[in-house]
Amino acid sequence: MTQQLLDWYSAHYRPLPWRNDPSPYHVWVSEIMLQQTRIEAVLPYYRRFIETLPTVADLAQAPSEVLLKLWEGLGYYSRVRNMQKAAQVVVEEYAGALPADYDALLALPGIGPYTAGAIASIAYDIPVPAVDGNVMRVLARLTADDTDVLSNEGKKCFTALAWDLVPEQGAGRFNQALMELGETVCLPNGEPHCTDCPLQNICEAHRLGCAQRLPVRIKKTARRVENRRIAVVRVEGDPPAVLLHKRESSGLLADLWELPNTLSDNPLDSLPTEWRERCTKMADLPSGKHLFSHIEWRMQGTLYDLDRAESLPEGYALATLEMLQTAFPLPSAFRTYANLLPQILSEEC
Ligand code: SF4
Repeated sequence: MTQQLLDWYSAHYRPLPWRNDPSPYHVWVSEIMLQQTRIEAVLPYYRRFIETLPTVADLAQAPSEVLLKLWEGLGYYSRVRNMQKAAQVVVEEYAGALPADYDALLALPGIGPYTAGAIASIAYDIPVPAVDGNVMRVLARLTADDTDVLSNEGKKCFTALAWDLVPEQGAGRFNQALMELGETVCLPNGEPHCTDCPLQNICEAHRLGCAQRLPVRIKKTARRVENRRIAVVRVEGDPPAVLLHKRESSGLLADLWELPNTLSDNPLDSLPTEWRERCTKMADLPSGKHLFSHIEWRMQGTLYDLDRAESLPEGYALATLEMLQTAFPLPSAFRTYANLLPQILSEEC
């Protein structure tokens, strides 16, 4: 199986920047970004991140606003915060070089078994597996195993199988080949391309004709729905600005700037009382939706005008269009309204 897979990988792998130069740092950054986003979407983010922060030491020292701006649009901001914490440990304890040791990698903030396995095997060729959803899908199909891949039992069983399969030499290429097969041939949500697969002759699911039913994924909990009212408060000025609020430093979207919002019926309820009274409703805005891992925001926006705000209470800021581009990372949850801001802020107050 190993040789078949490696031969196929040599002929079909996609040349990607982190594959062309697989330093531990490059592998780390790419793997964290790829946990949440498709390769095509990650490429510009990856290039910008590595250009701005070319080393672990640069990441360790980066100002929070720079870091969040580089991550803006990728979501899951806790991942980049954890990367910075890990980078600080790497600078202090390992002189800025990620350790060539699976357990030491695993001990770093934000690095789980998959990422530790990817860095250790791809960058250092240590014989450990890197088991993500793609790899579990391939393994479940190869063995026609219907254990739920979302259950602890499933994770344990497919991880144990991956440990058995990973070769002593060339673990990095083997792991990448399995991932690549899952991403380009043994596809989720539909019919896998078995006729293009180098492992067709040993695949149990293909033999039994059950590949489309595998892997089994049993979702436990539905997302909690939150109906949020969003206040887009346009503030008079030259140029005009929009009112932003800084979120708490823990929990969902911690420390990020947001459009004022509330779970109550009045979109202005989150603002200080004296401001609420000075806001004039201008228009209803479109509804929006955003999915977090455990919560779904269903949003309804309203546009207000506010005359000049002389002094801002703590935790609020005014952002012009230019500042939104450069200094205030608005989370992608607010994309529906962020996309309207160029038009809203260019209209006469
Ligand atoms: Fe996946 Fe089909 Fe290959 Fe089996 S033969 S591993 S189901 S693509």
